[in-house]
Amino acid sequence: MPRLYGFDNQALTRVRAQERHVVREAVGRIRAGQSQAEVAAWMTAEGHRGTMGGEWTTMTLGRLLDNPAIAGMERDPATGELRETGREALITPEEFRWLQQRPGRRGSVRSPEGREPDHDYLLAGGLAVCGECGQRMAGGRTSAKTPSYRCQTSFEGRGGCGKVRITASLLEEHVAEHVLGELLRPGAHAALEVARTGIEAGADQLRAQIADLEGSRGELAEPYAQGQVSRDAFVAADRRISEMLKQARSRLRYLEQAVEVPLGGVEDLARWWQHAPFRSRRALVVLLLDKVEVHPARARGVRDVDDRVTLTWRTATAA
Ligand SMILES: [Zn+2]
Repeated sequence: MPRLYGFDNQALTRVRAQERHVVREAVGRIRAGQSQAEVAAWMTAEGHRGTMGGEWTTMTLGRLLDNPAIAGMERDPATGELRETGREALITPEEFRWLQQRPGRRGSVRSPEGREPDHDYLLAGGLAVCGECGQRMAGGRTSAKTPSYRCQTSFEGRGGCGKVRITASLLEEHVAEHVLGELLRPGAHAALEVARTGIEAGADQLRAQIADLEGSRGELAEPYAQGQVSRDAFVAADRRISEMLKQARSRLRYLEQAVEVPLGGVEDLARWWQHAPFRSRRALVVLLLDKVEVHPARARGVRDVDDRVTLTWRTATAA
């Protein structure tokens, strides 16, 4: 795991003075009104590099500035709330809070009523799953108002562990980056069509299953009417079938969105992806990825997305 920029060690107990200076200057520039892209360009132009030797980008700078460890804080893994760790810091907690709430920052723009706008959860609906227990993850805001994905403790009668949570922007940017990489591969178009055919076959199976379930539900009424089964047994069986139908229909809708993604006339997939409407982006992610597993954070306050996320691709060309 690479060390966090600004710190000498993984335990975050020793600050690297030169890098702290860079971070402080970067934050000062943002407070003075520069965009994250401008500041990242400045850092790179000045010869500063990330801990892996890479040039700074809006995304890598954003990730660093989003990490509460730079302010000597961490997020409570259960509630997402910030708390001070007493470790070394590059900036003050007040500066960090200001950065989190600054105007124009994704996900933090407040509507006139002071309510948080709805975040569009790209990976909700069954794509993001808990790496601990396999439960699907749901989108929602933490008490600190950060849009996040969280292992659901109850969904369709099934309880997840509730232990895994990840900030939505971190996970979505990670997925978007890899999706873009896939779309840039030669043969991406053909691979997508193969994936689409596979999903169509899955959708057909679900339609057959739904027809069977509807049939069984109809047949239940007969023995009940003739007094061959008790009311309790009838109600229990009917409820079970209804639950299975609900799951199958929701899964079918989920797959159908991927079948319908409009790629016919698209020549430059990567370009299309970057400007596509949310619904289409989401549909494409479903078409490309079978699941996105999120594993628990190993160390509190250190959010290493690459290590925490496993992507399972539908597309044949994917590694
Ligand atoms: Zn879980």
